[in-house]
Amino acid sequence: MRTIIIGGVAAGMSAATRLRRLDESREIVVFERGSYVSFANCGLPYFVGRVIEDRSSLLLQTPASLASRFALRVHVRHEVVSIDTAARTVTVRDLDSGSDRIERYDDLVLAMGATTTEAIPGEGMPVVTLRSVDDVDAITAVLDGIPSPRAIVAGAGFIGIEAVENLLARGAHVTVVQRGSQVLSPLDPEMVAPVHRALDEAGVDVRTGTTVSSIHAGGATLSDGTEVPADLVVDARGVRPDVRIADAAGIALGPTGGIAVDDRHRTSAPGVWAVGDAVEKTDHLDGRATLVTMAGLANRHGRAAADDIAGAVTAPATPALGTTIVGVLGLTVGLVGWSERRLVAAGRAHRVVHTHPFSHATYYPGAEQMAMKLLIDPETDLILGAQLVGRAGVDKRLDVLAVAMTSGLTASALTQLELAYAPQYGSAKDGINMAGYVAENLATGADRTIQWHEVDAARAAGAVIVDVRTTGEHAAGSIPGSILLPLDELRERHGELPDAPLIVHCRVGQRGHTASRILQQLGHDVRNLDGGWLTWTDGVETGLPRHGSAQ
Ligand SMILES: Cc1cc2nc3c(=O)[nH]c(=O)nc-3n(C[C@H](O)[C@H](O)[C@H](O)COP(=O)(O)OP(=O)(O)OC[C@H]3O[C@@H](n4cnc5c(N)ncnc54)[C@H](O)[C@@H]3O)c2cc1C
Repeated sequence: MRTIIIGGVAAGMSAATRLRRLDESREIVVFERGSYVSFANCGLPYFVGRVIEDRSSLLLQTPASLASRFALRVHVRHEVVSIDTAARTVTVRDLDSGSDRIERYDDLVLAMGATTTEAIPGEGMPVVTLRSVDDVDAITAVLDGIPSPRAIVAGAGFIGIEAVENLLARGAHVTVVQRGSQVLSPLDPEMVAPVHRALDEAGVDVRTGTTVSSIHAGGATLSDGTEVPADLVVDARGVRPDVRIADAAGIALGPTGGIAVDDRHRTSAPGVWAVGDAVEKTDHLDGRATLVTMAGLANRHGRAAADDIAGAVTAPATPALGTTIVGVLGLTVGLVGWSERRLVAAGRAHRVVHTHPFSHATYYPGAEQMAMKLLIDPETDLILGAQLVGRAGVDKRLDVLAVAMTSGLTASALTQLELAYAPQYGSAKDGINMAGYVAENLATGADRTIQWHEVDAARAAGAVIVDVRTTGEHAAGSIPGSILLPLDELRERHGELPDAPLIVHCRVGQRGHTASRILQQLGHDVRNLDGGWLTWTDGVETGLPRHGSAQ
């Protein structure tokens, strides 16, 4: 039996090595059009920034090491230019000699990854993507040659933001150009505010609502007509599945434009599997086709395809959650599942919980506060999505929430998780438990909340905002028109409050919850501002278009 694998990085190499571990007798051939296989593409930005100093550490394997350990025949600089699914052959071009040859397969694995959008028009300045070792070599060559380089990063998704951070680390002046109204578009606006602040503080020139229209010697012209001087453009304008040879071979694509596969990664063509960024996935929430271009899924699915090829017992592919984490200028941003923006666009009912837990017990030095947002199905109490922005401890909570979503835990069940605690690691009531308590209070009706973007409308309808923080906190900054009535004086002085619907708020929502319980039991119509002052200011200060109403 002869298996050919097209693409020799994450998904392709996982398939190849797993297949070898399952079957010693099979011939396994990998064609990779780039100069390297099995390289750490997720580490590429950090080589630009010299966080990873040793270039060779990005190269996890070589054709020689894969031959000796796994008996793989790996051909770099060999591009598969066409597939004949009827004859079960591929045409391979040796990129050094330019010659083509036909290779036979019994089983074929497509792992071509993703490709970038159309080239930016113009010439006179290097425009480099950030997808390969050759790309980072090209970027570093420009940076090394100029004392104070000026770089444009086109696209502020996860790769673009990593590029920004690492170009700054190399002393470059960076302009980031983003078509949408914010960087990291999967984040909801109130959650992205800290990232915008960090970029501003680092001196990054953030241009939103515009694109790079063209380049010329010494700069670029943006679609809003402005000129940006630059020595280099890093093109991170998003990715799409690289399906060109699959499409040309008549292999079915799905509605997203990715290769369509079943839950065993089989394509429409007999004997052809497809895995990784080139393939569409099934969404965890709605079961529809979706594109998730992350390394964990690529590796997992590559392995599973090998299992299926070898006839090993394998579970059907699990749907994709889209768990994502990115570091930017000391912040950690994590998200899983759907954003509020996406839920609103889909017309899907949801409940929102904002909290601001600390990474560990606040009495132990070094605790750092994060912003956490949970999106919850009001009918089932299932978690629909989560977003976290902070420093220490974000990664741990993100992974707990990803596990909770995978295992179908309700938001209220987060209260029951017995999580690790010693003061330097967590809290006796971890932020995850606390988010569960808030969700449970909403589910049982013990608390009613209002979202930051609903405050203006509520006030216009006659609601009064009551700040239950301390006098000092209020003096340092307050919601315009709010009445100060500190929590500890509430029982005695609540009679001073007007006979109107009340919105109580504190800094993060916790004292507001206590205030809301007191006032509710004293007969007031009261709602607690979800996430408190911190979420409200982050939401309002972004100045971004607001969501539709959440339930
Ligand atoms: C800069 C960067 C940072 C990233 N950071 C993260 C991260 O932190 N976390 C995370 O989860 N994901 C990250 N990703 C995404 C992750 O790398 C991808 O999801 C993953 O590599 C996809 O695996 P794949 O095998 O489908 O595609 P790839 O790893 O891209 O491999 C596809 C390979 O196929 C080759 N190929 C394509 N067509 C042909 C052909 N016709 N013939 C021969 N060879 C061909 C390509 O040259 C390419 O090398 C990052 C990606 C980049 C670019």
